[in-house]
Parts: sequence; C-alpha cells; structure tokens
Amino acid sequence: MADTTMAEIRDAILAGADSATIGKLPIPSSYRAAHLLKSETGMFDGMPSNQKDPRRSLHVGDVPTPELAPDEVYVAIMASSINFNTVWSSIFEPVSSFGPMQRLARESEWAKRHDRDYQVVGSDGSGVVLRVGAAVRNWKPGDRVTIHCNHVDDQDQTAHNDSMLAANQRIWGYETNFGGLADLSVVKANQLMPKPAHLSWEEAAVNALCNSTSYRMLVSKNGAQMKQGDVVLIWGATGGIGAYAVQYVLNGGGIPVGVVSSPDKAKILHDMGCEAVIDRKSANYKFFDDNGDHDEKEWRRLGSDIRDLVGEDPDIVFEHPGRSTFGASMYVAKRGGTVVTCAATSGFMMEFDNRHFWMRLKRLVGSHFANYREAWEANRLIAKGMIHPVMSQVFPLDQLGEAAHQVHHNMHEGKLGILCLAPGAGLGIDDPALRSRVGEQKINMFRR
Ligand code: NAP
Repeated sequence: MADTTMAEIRDAILAGADSATIGKLPIPSSYRAAHLLKSETGMFDGMPSNQKDPRRSLHVGDVPTPELAPDEVYVAIMASSINFNTVWSSIFEPVSSFGPMQRLARESEWAKRHDRDYQVVGSDGSGVVLRVGAAVRNWKPGDRVTIHCNHVDDQDQTAHNDSMLAANQRIWGYETNFGGLADLSVVKANQLMPKPAHLSWEEAAVNALCNSTSYRMLVSKNGAQMKQGDVVLIWGATGGIGAYAVQYVLNGGGIPVGVVSSPDKAKILHDMGCEAVIDRKSANYKFFDDNGDHDEKEWRRLGSDIRDLVGEDPDIVFEHPGRSTFGASMYVAKRGGTVVTCAATSGFMMEFDNRHFWMRLKRLVGSHFANYREAWEANRLIAKGMIHPVMSQVFPLDQLGEAAHQVHHNMHEGKLGILCLAPGAGLGIDDPALRSRVGEQKINMFRR
C-alpha cells in the first residue's frame, strides 16, 4: 500500500506538479527505508571492525510514518548518499546509535518518536517538501530542497550563537531517527536549503554533510580560517570530505598538498588542479615501529616530502584519519600552524609529541559538521557552480548495503549517491543553462 502512494508522489514530482497539487497528495502511513534493528545491535560482538559487514545489518523495508511536529516538514526523498556515519552506525561502532535516540526521547513529547526498535539511517538528502508543520514559515509544499544534518532544538539558549555548540545538537539520521536513506523523511524546517538548480537529484544529494564539514574546517571563523597562499595538507584528498577540501583550498588561493593511496586517485587530484600529490602507499610511511611506538624519522620523511613538493611546511593540516596519522600531522604543521580535525577513522585514541606542539606554537582545532549558516553558505557555493559534487557512483536504495561496504573498505572515491524515489540518475535538473555554463566536466569530475 505504501508503494502505491509513494509512486503517486513520485509521479506527481516527475510531472512537475505545482505546490497546491503536491500539498494535497496523501501522506502514506508507511514508507520504504533503510534501517537498523535494535535487536541486532550485538550481532557483530567480538569481531574485528573490518569483518563487520553493513550488508548484514542494513535492511530495506517499510516502516511506519511518524506524526509531524509543528516545526517539521515531510520531504519526499529523491536521492541520498552514503556517509561514513552510516558505516559507523551499521557496524555499531564506536557505540550503537540507539543510545543517543533513547536520550533524545527524554527531551520532549515530540522527541519520544525517535526511540523505536529500528533506526532509519542516512544524513543527506535531496527531494521535495510534501507538507509543512503549523509553525513552519519559510517553506511550502513543492519546494525542491537539500537537507543538512544539524539537528537542534532552537528553543534552547545554547543553540544560539553557534548551533554546533548546542547542548542538544545531534546529527540527523545518525543520532536521530527518520534519516534520509528512505523514500520519505521528517526533518526540522531549519535543516532545509534550496536544491542547486543545475544538479540532478543525486548530484544535489551527496554534498551537504561532507561539503559543509569541509567548509567549517577550512573557511569558517570556527575552523582554520584559511587565507590566500596557505599550504594545506589534506589527508584522504579524494575521499568524501577531502575532495571538497581540495576545492576550497584551490578556490581560496591556497596550495593543497593532497595525500591519497593509489595512482588512480593521484590522477583525479591532478585533474582537479591539485599539483602537489603524495601517494602514501608508494611512499610507504611507517609512522609506528614494530613495537607500536611512534617513529619520528618517518614524520620527518613526510615533512621533507611536503617541502620537496611545495617548498615549505603546511600552514594547515586537514586531519581525520586519526590514530594512524595524527602524530605525523601534529609534527609536520608549520610553526604557528593549525591542525583541524573532525574524525578518527583509524582509531580515536591518538598520541603526539607535545614538545613539537608547544615549542612551535601550533593550534589544534576540533570541528564537527556545520551550523545552519555555514551549511547554507556551503550549499550556496554548490548552487553557484563554484564547488562541485564529487559523486563517483550511484546505487539504488536496495543496494545501499553494498555501497556502505565499499566505503567501509575504502574501495570508493568521493561520494556514493543513492537513488531513493528517483527512478533513475540524471533527473531533476531545473537549470540546464547554468549546468552548461558550469560544465559537465566539473560536475562529473569523479564520475566512474
Ligand atoms: P571517506 O570517503 O572514506 O574518505 C576518507 C579518506 O581517508 C579515504 O579516501 C582514504 O584516502 C583516507 N584514509 C582512510 N584511512 C586512512 C589512514 N589510515 N591513513 C591515511 N588516510 C586514510 O570518508 P569521509 O566521508 O571523507 O570521512 C572521513 C572521516 O571523517 C570519517 O571518519 C567520517 O566519519 C568523518 N566525518 C566527520 C564529520 C564530522 O562532522 N565530524 C563529517 C564528515 C565526515 P586514501 O586511502 O586515498 O589515502
């Protein structure tokens, strides 16, 4: 039954129905969604991380539609994307995401809806607004939107100034329910942004989480505040956040030094205009010796490779691999330089030599996603064709387990798009003239 109604919604969107028509479409009582089951949180207990398989824990099937709170909207999700947080939640590491939802449920009557025996995951989406709650002012049915993942209760005083500092800040579809890897989602109105008109549904869907994160880390006053001429070392420079970081550095007049792990990825960087590239596999850095202790010689070797390429040390290090690279990142940053970090993919207990840190007056900045303003600015740059999607492949929703598996094992480049209600790739382009001005080559930079 849910399928029939969602199919009607999809057909109306594809036919270009107006706001009044979209606003009258019935909201189905259930919808297709990728979800985890609370009863399966222990399914990988005792296994090493790399054997935990998202294809086993991610299910695609119908779930009931939640009621709409006054400050929320229903969005028909045309496309979404895989983020690393869906890998984390699907392997139940470092903790199960059902815990944060239980805590969220204690905050209000409406928040109770999030505590269920399943979690609909996914922290990106593009689609069409179907209904708005009674308190929503700036959006209406039929609006074409992208969704950012900063979920805050803006009636809490801590959510003002910088909403990423809010006591109740959560990531939608990771620490909340009703995420974007689905045909429908419930999101707060303050998560909505206009869909970039020159992009297809899936090209528009892959950006918000990674692009906004990189914007805050490098451009925002809350991050490293990169300036013209800065040398920026970017780990994982063709990965989700790294590929946007490279674009920000090039756009802002900086000098990116991109680190990748294969000649194919090195070629993508050269094609993007990043001239200084390090292939960490062929360089074979061994930042830890056989006893598991840090090897400063290898930090020095990385530093000297960077100097060979660009003649100086990095003003900024864009750090996220964590344990395996953090000591080296803190070492190679320039005297007075900044290491900005948002993650720890390879392990979150990290060590560095504090002598190099304090004696050389470096700064360490912790960064997490982006506030609404930062996400809006990052989306605006996409909409103007100044920052481009980095999507390499597209999967249908029922194959998202395979997509998450690829991201888990670093088999991908850039972002993986997921088609939800969109029946195929390439739909939803509203401004073909802007698209041709921006150019297919830039928009499809990562496309395999
Ligand atoms: P991704 O698409 O998997 O890219 C990560 C890149 O890191 C890979 O392409 C890989 O590049 C590199 N890498 C992986 N392991 C490494 C290691 N041991 N040493 C050096 N490089 C390594 O993931 P992503 O979307 O960019 O996200 C990266 C991390 O940031 C994840 O942990 C994610 O959860 C986190 N994140 C946090 C936020 C936040 O708001 N706090 C937002 C987005 C992402 P090569 O193999 O080519 O070197």
